[in-house]
Amino acid sequence: MALALALKLHGVTAEIFEARERAVVCRDARVLALSDGARQILEWLGVWSGLAATPIETIHISQRGGFGRSRLRAAELGVTALGWVLPASDLILALDAAVTAAGIVYRENTRVGAGDTATFSLTAFAEGMVEAGAGTLHDYGQHAVLCNVSVAAPHQNVAWERFTSEGPVALLPLGDRYAVVLTCADDTVAEIKSLGDAAFLALLQQRFGTRHCFTAAGPRTAYPLGLRYRQNPVGERQVWLGNAAQTLHPVAGQGFNLALRDIWELAQQVGADDDPGAPEVLAAYARGRQADRRGAIGFTDLLIDSFAPEFAPLRHTRGAGLLVLDLLPPLRSFVARRMIYGARAWP
Ligand SMILES: Cc1cc2nc3c(=O)[nH]c(=O)nc-3n(C[C@H](O)[C@H](O)[C@H](O)COP(=O)(O)OP(=O)(O)OC[C@H]3O[C@@H](n4cnc5c(N)ncnc54)[C@H](O)[C@@H]3O)c2cc1C
Repeated sequence: MALALALKLHGVTAEIFEARERAVVCRDARVLALSDGARQILEWLGVWSGLAATPIETIHISQRGGFGRSRLRAAELGVTALGWVLPASDLILALDAAVTAAGIVYRENTRVGAGDTATFSLTAFAEGMVEAGAGTLHDYGQHAVLCNVSVAAPHQNVAWERFTSEGPVALLPLGDRYAVVLTCADDTVAEIKSLGDAAFLALLQQRFGTRHCFTAAGPRTAYPLGLRYRQNPVGERQVWLGNAAQTLHPVAGQGFNLALRDIWELAQQVGADDDPGAPEVLAAYARGRQADRRGAIGFTDLLIDSFAPEFAPLRHTRGAGLLVLDLLPPLRSFVARRMIYGARAWP
C-alpha cells in the first residue's frame, strides 16, 4: 500500500493484489517503533497526521548480569523524538484509507504467483517472510512474545532494550503503557504464552530487572524470529520489498523502517523513467539500496550474536562497549542517526 501511494505521487499507476481479505490485513497485533526518517516518508505519503504515535525521547540499552549501559537522547541530536511507537494496525488502517482515497485498485483475496505477472511492466513482491530456499538464513531458534503491560511509574517516553542470555527484552512506550517484545527460546514460547498474568509479570520482572514495576498484562501473541534475505532484491521486471526482501530480528526495530526507505528509493527511480521495470532502473535501485540493506542486516545480526553468549569475558567486553558508547557523544550520535536515517547517517 505504501509503495502504491509513493508511485502515485510520482505519476505511476499501480494495482495491489492481496491474498487475504482486506479487513483481516488491517488486524495486526505487532507494535512498530518507527524512526523519525520513517515518519518523514509517511508524512510525504499523507498518512502520518492522523496517527496517534507515542514519541521515544530516550533509549536505554543495558545487559542483564553485567556492567555498562548506554543512553541515546533525542535532545542530544536536536530532534523531537528518536522514534515513534504505534500499533501496526493503526498504520495499516491509515494506509488502507489513503489507498481508497487515491483511487488505487486493491484486489483482495487474490494470491499472486510468479507466473501471474507477465502483463505488468514491473511486479513488486511484498508477500512477507522471504520464502525458504530463496534467501540466506540464520535461524536464531527464538520467538518474540508481544504483550502490552502497565507500569507503576510513568514511562517518561523512555524505551528500554535489555539484553539477556535468553535474548533481548524491549519495552516501547505506547500511550500510558509499555509494549513489550520478550524474546524467548522456541521450546519455551508455548509455556510463556499460556502463563497466567501474575506468572507472566513475574517472569518479565525477572528478565527485565527492577527499573520498572509491572502491574498488569494484556493478551499475548508470538512470532517466530529469524534472519532471511535475498542477496539480490531485483529480477527481470521484478523487485522484492519489505519482509519479502529481508526478514530481520526485531531487536533494533529495523524491518518496516528499512521497507519504507526501500519504497522511497524505488519510487524515485521508477518515477524518473518511462519504463518502470527497465533493467537499468532496477539495477540503479539495487545499487542505491545495497549499503543500507547490508548495514541493517549486519547490525541486527551482530547485536543478536554478540549479546547472546553468557561467557564472562564477553560480558565484560560488551559492558565496556556500552560504557564507551555512553561516554562518546559522536559515537552515540552516529548510532542514533544510523537507526533514524539508515545508510544516510554515514558522512
Ligand atoms: C515481533 C515483531 C516486532 C517488530 N517490530 C518492528 C519495529 O518496531 N519496527 C519496525 O520497523 N519493524 C518491526 N518489525 C518488522 C515489521 O513488522 C515488518 O518489517 C513489516 O511488517 C513487513 O511488512 P511487509 O508488508 O513486508 O510484510 P507483511 O506484513 O508480512 O505483509 C505481507 C502481506 O502479503 C500478503 N501475501 C502473502 N503472499 C501473497 C501472495 N502470494 N499474493 C498476494 N498477497 C500475498 C499477506 O497476506 C500479507 O498481508 C517487527 C516484526 C516482529 C515480528
